[in-house]
Amino acid sequence: MTYAIISDIHANLAALQHVLERIQDFNCDRLVCLGDIVGYGPFPNECCEIIQEKADICIIGNHDHAAIGRTSTEYFNKYAKSALGWTTKKLSAKNKRYLQERPAQVSENDLLFVHAAPIEPLNWNYILSLYDADDNFRSFNEKVCFIGHSHVPAIISYEDGEFPVYEQGPQVKLYNGFRYIINVGSVGQPRDKNPDACFGIYDTASSVFQLERVSYNIQDTQNAMQKKGLPIFLIERLALGR
Ligand code: ZN
Repeated sequence: MTYAIISDIHANLAALQHVLERIQDFNCDRLVCLGDIVGYGPFPNECCEIIQEKADICIIGNHDHAAIGRTSTEYFNKYAKSALGWTTKKLSAKNKRYLQERPAQVSENDLLFVHAAPIEPLNWNYILSLYDADDNFRSFNEKVCFIGHSHVPAIISYEDGEFPVYEQGPQVKLYNGFRYIINVGSVGQPRDKNPDACFGIYDTASSVFQLERVSYNIQDTQNAMQKKGLPIFLIERLALGR
């Protein structure tokens, strides 16, 4: 079975459309969204509707959770907070209901899908180091845990009793006897100094995971953000990929 795994769309419609177009090339059986459909970007309703229609699984992210009033924005920076306020006002009742119904995690075919981290998913902890990963490997049993949240793609492998290591992508074969935490990066606001939209493809038959990058018209999204009065800092960072 082939999975397309996307995360952190952040209401960036142009990026989402290009990613979905590219995903068609891979003949995937399942489309999984790891959350943060909204927040930061200019098209929250459009992105919710597309994901609702196309995704087989969609996990809740911290921005989605905040947009429906379930996570405090206290720990958000001022730009994220301001964009979130705008998002909450704009989101339709139907899309809020869709977000409310999203699960915190889903497990199938020895794969775990979660937005931030498998240890208490709704605490929104980050996995930013091998030490963070080491703690988290003890909290799930599936072969692979797919995450988003940091907007930085990463492939981490773990063998029982050993310290985890980073694998060099973009394409990695997942071996028997190892488990993995894979961050699929961000569709709508990459932060690894590459502004191209990022997502992952995993084929369970060959056990091969690959990270994919797609360029899209960043200016389209930036113009829409400007028109809607979203913070300039958020507009500029899209082109920088950070
Ligand atoms: Zn995010």
